[in-house]
Order: sequence, then C-alpha cells, then structure tokens
Amino acid sequence: MSRTTRIERYRNIGIMAHIDAGKTTLTERILFFTGRIHAMGEVHTGSTEMDWMVQEKQRGITITSAATTASWKPERGLFAGTPHRINILDTPGHVDFTIEVERSLRVLDGAVAVFDASQGVEPQSETVWRQADRHGVPRIAFLNKMDKVGADFAMSVQSIRQRLGANPVPVQLPIGAGPEFRGVVDLLRRRAFFFDEASGEPSEAQEIPEPLRSEAAALRLRLIEACAEVDGTVLGKYVDGRLQEITEEELERALRLGTLQRQLVPVLTGAAFKKKGVQMLLDAVVNYLPAPSDLPAVEGVTPDTQVKVTRPANDEEAMSALVFKLMHDKSVGTIAFLRVYSGTLRTGMAVLNTRQQRRERVGRLMFMHANKREEVEEVHAGDICAALNLRGVRTGDTLSALEAPVVLEALHFPEPVIQLAV
Ligand code: GDP
Repeated sequence: MSRTTRIERYRNIGIMAHIDAGKTTLTERILFFTGRIHAMGEVHTGSTEMDWMVQEKQRGITITSAATTASWKPERGLFAGTPHRINILDTPGHVDFTIEVERSLRVLDGAVAVFDASQGVEPQSETVWRQADRHGVPRIAFLNKMDKVGADFAMSVQSIRQRLGANPVPVQLPIGAGPEFRGVVDLLRRRAFFFDEASGEPSEAQEIPEPLRSEAAALRLRLIEACAEVDGTVLGKYVDGRLQEITEEELERALRLGTLQRQLVPVLTGAAFKKKGVQMLLDAVVNYLPAPSDLPAVEGVTPDTQVKVTRPANDEEAMSALVFKLMHDKSVGTIAFLRVYSGTLRTGMAVLNTRQQRRERVGRLMFMHANKREEVEEVHAGDICAALNLRGVRTGDTLSALEAPVVLEALHFPEPVIQLAV
C-alpha cells in the first residue's frame, strides 16, 4: 500500500500561545472545521458545533493529546482546492514545561503563534517564541480575541516587532474591534469578508469599507515591500513603480518563501469563535507553512562510528523515526507517538532502537484523529502516528531500519508516562 497523501501536502504544525490566549478554543474549532468528525460519520448530520463540543466533553476525549491528524482543502492561495493533511502537535504554553516545548519544537515543521489581541505579546509567548527561534521554526501569527473589549490590532503587531524582534507582515486588517468586530480585510485580494455567524455561511468577498481604505492601502504597501525583500519579481515591479501589476500569486509565493526562510511572519487576525476567520487561518497554514519536504534533511549519527548522516524526507530512504511522546491508555497500554522522518514503517517490521541498542518488532500503527483512531498497515516519511506494543521505548529514542542504523539528534528527556484521561 502506498501513501494516500503526498508528502508535499503535509503540514506538521504546533499551536503556541500564552495561557488564556485561546489555544484550546482555536484547536477545537480547527478540528471541528477540518470536517474529520463529519467525514468519519461519528456525528449525525445537521449536528451543530456546540453539540460536538458537548459530546467531546462527555466522552472526555483529549483532543490535544500529543498529535491529532486532520485534513483541509484551502479555498484560496497557492494550494487552493488541494486537500492537505494537517498534523497538530501539542505544544505546551506554560513555561514550567520548557522541556516539553523543546521536545515538540523538535518534531514540528511550522507553528501558529496565537496572541490575545487585547494583550499583544505576553511573557510566556515570548519564552516559547525564543525557543522556536532557536529551532528555526517558521511561524505565522494569529491575533485572536479581536471581539474582546480592548482588542488592539496595531498595538499587537507592534509588540510582535518590538518584543520578539520579528518582522510581522499583516495579510489581514480587522474590520472593527471589540463588540464592533465584524470581519477582516484580505490585503492580498483587497476584499472585505464579514463574519456572518448568524447564517453560519462564509460571507462573499465585498468592497473594503470606505473608512478602512487608506489604512488597508498602507498595510498592503508594507506587505509588498516585505515581499520585495524576498522575491525578485515583486522587487522588480516595486522599484519600477508598477505596483498594480504585482499579482496575488506573486505575493503569495513571496509570503511563502519569506515565511519558510524565516524572514517574515504573516499576521492574521480574528476570533476563535468565528468560523470564517478560522477557515482563513487554516488556508494560511497550508499556504505559508512548510511541508516536511521543504525542509533540510534531518541529521543524525551512526551509532557505532558517530559519523554524521542525513535522512532526506522521502519514502525510498532507509526508515528513521523519532519517539517524541509516550502516553498510557487503559485499553491498549503504552502508546508511543512517532514522527517518521524517512522511509516507510510497517506493522510487523523489525527495527532497531538505536539509542538503546535493541531490536523491536513494530506492533499496531495508527493515526489519531480528533475522536477516532485509524489503524493503518504502514506509515511514511512525514507522518506523525501512534505505535502500540513497542517494548521499552523512551521519549527521544530513534527507531531505524536494521540495515541503516541512525541516532537522530534528540534531546534527553527525563519523562514520566502521561495518563490519558479516557
Ligand atoms: P488557552 O489557555 O490558550 O487554551 O485558552 P482557551 O482556549 O481556554 O481560552 C481562554 C478563554 O478565552 C476562554 O474563556 C475562551 O472562551 C476565551 N476565548 C477564546 N477565544 C476567544 C475569542 O476569540 N474571543 C473571546 N472574546 N474570547 C475567547
């Protein structure tokens, strides 16, 4: 069986936030809107979002348990219309869990940094941001809670620049703030989107409201300038004064490139409660954050000789995978969460746990969806999955093909096994 989703269509992401910025709410909404719940037929059709939230709580499912797999087809941008697989890795927001943050940053490829727009950058977001800097993680920012009294878009963007030393580039401008928050202006399309929650339908693109036009034009110019710094085509048209000729696609490409090279941070805004805003954020995750194949090959050393080796992210390479979290489940025992960096891992396959120098036979493999475990025969480069029946694995262990042992760079985690609340 070959892979069902090409590696270019994977996004392995974390959501980083200061406590209370809305990470849990946003994650729940993302999982709801990615439609997996309906696709699996677990919720009767016509059920509302709140129904699902209630069911979720009753069943006590930990939606942010280590890693959750969802799928999303962007409506717009470079990858419009193409389904993507988004793996959301849990990224603790609390400074007490620094080691956990480090560990999750090690296995994700990109992140959404969520801020409370009434607070701007808060201390914990600063700590996690610096860790993500050290790991070179490309990021997009989401200024949440625009509907809250005191929400201030300009102040929040400014605090990202000043406190984090980043290059924030708004791709949206909020329409109103606090109780007057109505939607966003999309600065690439130069259109306004009103979040009409009453009908539940996404709004059609509309003209930018008159009072916002000059601010939108100024921010769009700033966006073009940021894109010109990373993309020659945009730069050429910018220096020639041919701004009208710069296409949406050119800007999208430059934004993706600038994000991947960590030269800029696209900034979106909205409120976790607003469906359209969350959908636009998901589009941005796919359009701006990297696929595993966009990143340099992971590095490791051979266990005997300590010679440095790389493992490019494709299925034909020798298999290598990193265990990044262990959980205990009453019914199935210990669950090891793995990220496969290269090659293919199959149930029944013999692999080497290189750090512990022991052979393991791979038991059951599964993808963890929001409320469903999907058992699979094999997993591939780029996949995040759960493995059962691995004896004696520890967090940070590398599993590799017998014929090509490797120890992937790993942090050493003194780690308790976490109990799943099931
Ligand atoms: P976390 O600690 O980052 O996971 O934050 P939560 O998702 O638990 O949210 C903290 C509080 O903020 C909760 O009471 C949420 O209902 C509320 N909240 C989350 N997102 C929004 C938003 O977009 N607007 C408003 N007004 N409140 C929000």
